[in-house]
Amino acid sequence: MLEARALRKSFGRTTALEGVSLSIGEGEIVAITGPSGSGKSTLLHCLAGIIRPEAGEVTFGGRRVDSLDDAGRTRLRRESFGIVFQHGELVPELSAMENVALPFLFGGHARQESLRRAMEALERLGVADCAERLPGELSGGQSQRVAVARALVASPKAVFADEPTGALDSLAGELVMKELVRTAEAARMALVIVTHDNRVASYANREIVLRDGRVAG
Ligand code: ATP
Ligand code: MG
Repeated sequence: MLEARALRKSFGRTTALEGVSLSIGEGEIVAITGPSGSGKSTLLHCLAGIIRPEAGEVTFGGRRVDSLDDAGRTRLRRESFGIVFQHGELVPELSAMENVALPFLFGGHARQESLRRAMEALERLGVADCAERLPGELSGGQSQRVAVARALVASPKAVFADEPTGALDSLAGELVMKELVRTAEAARMALVIVTHDNRVASYANREIVLRDGRVAG
């Protein structure tokens, strides 16, 4: 369903990825682990069509992702992907509930229905009480759960989550992982999780370890 072949990406003189290839099937849950700076976020961003690799190919459902222009990749992300960024990126002017409703609103759904579905997702992630708050009024862990709710709400074909439990205690982290896995299994979505937490990685069917921008195991 999702394939990467010989990806390379550098930033100035830093080579973040070098010759990374992988294949992720429908319904598969994959953890990407490795030391800080090993290229995990860069890999996730290439797979999710957020950045373009300098060399190599990314295909999703047989369709090239890396050769799409910015508008094409934005459309693909909106239609098919849910993404949780490592450093959060909720829209600051919108309430938590409105943020979570965005994937439905982009998809042309009615506002009331979108907000209702958003509220249900917030409930499942244990942050219904934050629905009316702006992102600036949320704790790091609350923002993270709102971001996960937004990534899952419209049952995308693939979810890419960068340290989705990084700001959470173990209880909240477990709730988030269970919800990610439950939704992924119900919708047969591919789930790619970057994590440095072994407990999080243990939810995955498979672990890909990066070291200095290469797959180490
Ligand atoms: P962490 O666990 O700390 O989040 P990571 O494995 O996600 O690390 P990346 O963020 O992918 O690592 O970074 C890989 C390498 O690329 C690092 O050396 C990093 O400094 C560099 N890098 C990443 N993004 C940029 C950027 N926008 N500009 C310059 N260098 C970057
Ligand atoms: Mg990272």
